Amino acid sequence: MNKRADLHTHTRASDGTCEPQENVRLAQEAGLAAVAITDHDTVAGIPEALKAAQRGESAAAVEVIPGVEVSSVARGQDIHVLGYFVPYEDEAFHEKLRGLRETRHERNKLMVARLQELGIPITLEGVYRRKTGEDKNIGRPHIAEELIELGAVKSIDEAFAVYLGKEGKAYVNPPRISPQEAITLIKEAGGVAVLAHPGLYDDDELVKELIVFGLDGIEVWHPDNMREQRELYQRWAEENGLVMTGGSDFHGWRGEEPFHAMLGSHTAPYDAVERIREIAKKRKQASFG
Ligand code: AMP
Ligand code: ZN
Ligand code: FE
Ligand code: FE
Repeated sequence: MNKRADLHTHTRASDGTCEPQENVRLAQEAGLAAVAITDHDTVAGIPEALKAAQRGESAAAVEVIPGVEVSSVARGQDIHVLGYFVPYEDEAFHEKLRGLRETRHERNKLMVARLQELGIPITLEGVYRRKTGEDKNIGRPHIAEELIELGAVKSIDEAFAVYLGKEGKAYVNPPRISPQEAITLIKEAGGVAVLAHPGLYDDDELVKELIVFGLDGIEVWHPDNMREQRELYQRWAEENGLVMTGGSDFHGWRGEEPFHAMLGSHTAPYDAVERIREIAKKRKQASFG
């Protein structure tokens, strides 16, 4: 049997629109063996996803891999590092992620201020109202939604192209942890560090540096990696003994369309799960054994 895993999905715990259990259900429907929950700078969605997986019919059981997507900055652009098998119940780890969300909040404030300078009648309150509940893990997609509602742009794509993307007029990047620090944070917590969507960065020198620094894996199958890039990263993974991972980066739905890509549309062979589990196990044994 050809077992597959979608190792990159978001939920309402960050800027996805689905409850964690919906990701699990979609993974089940797609016939996947495993799905990772990898929200930006939080592990808040994981317990619910694990519960949903436990309730599932054993015949179609989906394994939930606890994960996180850590935001960092290098050379003025956002670099995302995925962490797998992170200690999602550990208070010290939560504290580190809280710090990252605090930085994210400061970034959001600067972006909104920049948009105001550009004459758009946007407010921070308006953006933060977009998310209910106590947790305000707000990201650029929420700012994009607010820009649409204010009539400043017509679509999320336009919001990113004109204002929020790395070439956008309101793109700001205050100091954040470096990708090296993100890798260390994940590994010291006993997790497995994988560079997310390397094809997005236009900086393969950086990708190489991070491989040398100590990445465990590299995300090869992702909607934003073009075909030649997948081939290149696959080669680098093989040459350096890194795990090749993949995932859809599913963010739920915005409008009628799946935001980014549909869950299950980009996957890794299940073998990748076995390899990352093995690395995590060894790392935990080394630090506690
Ligand atoms: P943030 O973590 O707040 O910096 O926002 C990052 C998120 O914004 C990504 O995970 C995507 O959901 C979204 N995003 C980034 N770039 C684009 C883009 N060019 N078009 C649409 N969405 C994007
Ligand atoms: Zn996102
Ligand atoms: Fe990302
Ligand atoms: Fe993502």
